[in-house]
Order: sequence, then C-alpha cells, then structure tokens
Amino acid sequence: MPPGGHTTVIQRILERRAEQPRAGHEETTATVAVMVRVVPPPRALLAFTEPRLRPQIERRITPDVFDLEAAASAADALKSFNAGFCPVVFTDSLELIRELRAHQTRAPFIVYVGAPQAGRRLDAGLAAGADECIAQDVSEHELDARIASARRIAELESVLRLTLEENRKLSATDDLTRVASRRFFSRNFPREVERAGRYGRALSLILCDIDHFKNINDTHGHACGDQILKQFGARLQQVLRRGADWVARIGGEEFAVVLPETGYQPALEVARKLRIAVASSPFPSDAASLEVTASFGVCALDRVTPREPSLPQRILKIADAALYRSKQSGRNRVTATRLDAPAG
Ligand code: GH3
Ligand code: MG
Ligand code: MG
Repeated sequence: MPPGGHTTVIQRILERRAEQPRAGHEETTATVAVMVRVVPPPRALLAFTEPRLRPQIERRITPDVFDLEAAASAADALKSFNAGFCPVVFTDSLELIRELRAHQTRAPFIVYVGAPQAGRRLDAGLAAGADECIAQDVSEHELDARIASARRIAELESVLRLTLEENRKLSATDDLTRVASRRFFSRNFPREVERAGRYGRALSLILCDIDHFKNINDTHGHACGDQILKQFGARLQQVLRRGADWVARIGGEEFAVVLPETGYQPALEVARKLRIAVASSPFPSDAASLEVTASFGVCALDRVTPREPSLPQRILKIADAALYRSKQSGRNRVTATRLDAPAG
C-alpha cells in the first residue's frame, strides 16, 4: 500500500458514511454481524512436513470453522495457493512461510506450528513471517483458542474486502437505473476530457431530461415513475456503442451520455436516435402504458485541445444551455452546440 493509502481508504469510508447519516454505530455493528454470518467459512491450508501434525490440527477444526485443504509439501502448498487464495495457512515449514511472505501480494494469516518445548524454534517462526506460533504439544484448549483467533482475523479480512467491493459498486452505479452514478460522472467525465485533450481527439456530451416527469409521478404515483426511470436508462444504453459510450444518472430524471471520440455530426445523430428510442414506443408500467419524451442538449468538440483545466465544466454548462433551449422550444427535441477548438 502506498504511503497514506490507509488514510485514503478510511477517508472514503467516512465520506460515504457522511452521505448516509442514518448509518449509525449500531447499524454498522449489525451490518458487520450479518456479513460475518453470511460469508462462507474461510479456506485454510494445512501444509505439514511432519505427518502427525495434520490430523492433530484437523481434529480440532469443524467444517463450519474452516474449509480445509491439505498440501503434501511446501511446493504443493504454493501451487494450491496460486490456484486460489487461502486466507489462513497452518504449517511447520519455515521455508513455506518465507515464500508466502516474499512472493504473495495478498498475504494469508500464517500459523506456525513449531517443535515441542523449543522456544527458539517458535521465534524462528515469527522471524520467518508467521503471524502466530503454536508449540506442537499445545493443549487442545489453547489450540482451539488459537484456531478461533485465526478464524476471526480471516473473517474480518473477508468482510473488509466485501465491504470495499460493495462500496465501490454502490458509488459507481446508480441503484435504481443501474447506469453510472452522478459520483462516477463527476470523477470520470473530467478524465475523459483530459484523455481526449491529450490525443487531440473528438468528444461529445449529451444531457437529457425527461419531459413533464412530475406529471407521471403525480398522476400514476412515484413507484410508476421509478419504473419509467429504470427503463429509460436501459433505452439510452441500447442505442450506444458498448464499451465506449456511457450513461450516468446525474439528477432525478436527468441523464448524461458521454461519447468519446465522437464529433459534432455523429453526436447529433446519436442524440436524435436517443430521442426516437424514447419517444417511439410507450413505456409499460404496472399503472399504465405511458408515452414518454425527453429533451436533449449536446455539446460537441471535433478536437479537444489540452490545457484547459475548466473545460469539463464548460462543456457541461454548454450542454445544459442547449438542453434548456430544447425545453423552451417545445420539448421532445435535440439542440446541439459545436465547441470549436480555439485558433492556434
Ligand atoms: P420538465 O419537462 O420541465 O423537465 O418537467 P419535469 O416535470 O420533468 O421537471 P421537474 O423538475 O418539475 O420535476 C422532476 C420530477 O422528478 C420531480 C421529482 O419528484 C421527480 N423525481 C426525481 N427523482 C425521482 C425518482 O427517483 N423517482 C421518481 N419516481 N421521481 C423522481
Ligand atoms: Mg424533466
Ligand atoms: Mg429535471
């Protein structure tokens, strides 16, 4: 992790929590408890050169504590490790411990099982990189406690990973429509502009806003409005090139479409296709089948020039002004502005 990396992760979590003030301490504790319950038992690898150690440890581990796997040698253990990550390793091989510490980017929790009554051998385990050392003649009572502590660490690691992954998805994707979120747009639209500027490529932005959406909510209810929004995002996406163009929901019923490598003429065509995709057939919903239209504003650049730091905001403003004109001139239409490269 780079210097300050931990701080960045913690900052992000705090930022997210700040956005959801209802998620208090108790709620967090409950969430973690549920996650710990639902994650499957972590995998644990037993890799012993001394044959009687494996049954000794295995006897104390029930399938609900660890999903056990055994390796015949240190080399086998590394092979199975490379095939799929194991969060916990029990071993009596210092060589394996060193290998795991030296070469694995995601390190497991390593329990070294050392020779009986030889404090120095246990120290060797720690020096090699083990997290925990157990003497081979350990009492069952202590062994159980050490296994439980390894399990807790593995569990916490997996919950942390799950949480980070979930947060990433949550912040990048809009929950209702499954298109990119406003947060994703704010971060990535400037990056798209910067990339286009670096290579002098074209780029266009389309903003679109559903017409008289309030009427739909007022007449058929909020749930019906939600159903329309869901389908609206999907209809926009159907028109676009997969993997290149992307859609974000940037307001209640307002969407942004980013078209990399797309200049004025093709962007105008895409906006027209989007308008037709919305207006050409009614949207089914539980309440009624509804005619929906949307207004579009395009800001297109045939060639983005580098070194204009506020260009993303300027593009957004121009597209928004174009959208406003579409609304003013009767809705269900496209207005496009070409933003020419400055001379020189
Ligand atoms: P215009 O043609 O000028 O855009 O009119 P409009 O009614 O679409 O615009 P207005 O801004 O007056 O209303 C937008 C409505 O969108 C109001 C708000 O309640 C509704 N809305 C925003 N987010 C959601 C949502 O997530 N679900 C539902 N069902 N409605 C939403
Ligand atoms: Mg609207
Ligand atoms: Mg609106």
